[in-house]
Amino acid sequence: MAAVLARGLARGWAARGPTIFSKIIARSVPATILYEDDKCLVFRDVAPQAPVHFLVIPKRPIPRISRVGPQDTELLGHLLVVAARTAQAEGLADGYRLVINDGKHGAQSVYHLHLHVLGGRQLGWPPG
Ligand code: IMP
Repeated sequence: MAAVLARGLARGWAARGPTIFSKIIARSVPATILYEDDKCLVFRDVAPQAPVHFLVIPKRPIPRISRVGPQDTELLGHLLVVAARTAQAEGLADGYRLVINDGKHGAQSVYHLHLHVLGGRQLGWPPG
C-alpha cells in the first residue's frame, strides 16, 4: 500500500486527490458510458464540442500524458485502439480528431489522463 501511494505521489495525482473521472469510474457520478473493460472507460463528454464527443480514460489514474513512462506503453496503445473502435461504433466514417490536452498551456482541466474523440462535423485547423 505504501509503495502504491509513493508511486502515486511521484506521479503527482495523489496530492490532487480523486478527480471527477475517478468518481465516474466508481459510479458515484453518473455518465453516459459507451464502453468499458478492465483497463479503460469510455463516456460522452458532458459539454460536447462536436456532434460526437466522447472521452477515453484509463481506470488507473495517470494525471497527464507528460507523466507517462515505458510501463504505460501497452495501456496507451489500448486506449488508442478503443478510441478507434468506439469512433467506428459511433458512425464516424468520415473521420474524427483525437486530442490529449496536457497541463496549463494545453488547457487541461481534469487531471486524469483522457483522450477526447471529436467528430460528426468538419473540424478546423489549427485549433485555438
Ligand atoms: P480537458 O480540458 O482536456 O481536461 O477536458 C476535460 C473534459 O472533461 C471537458 O471536455 C469536460 O467537458 C469534461 N468533463 C468534465 N466533467 C465531466 C463529467 O462529469 N462528465 C463528462 N465529461 C466531463
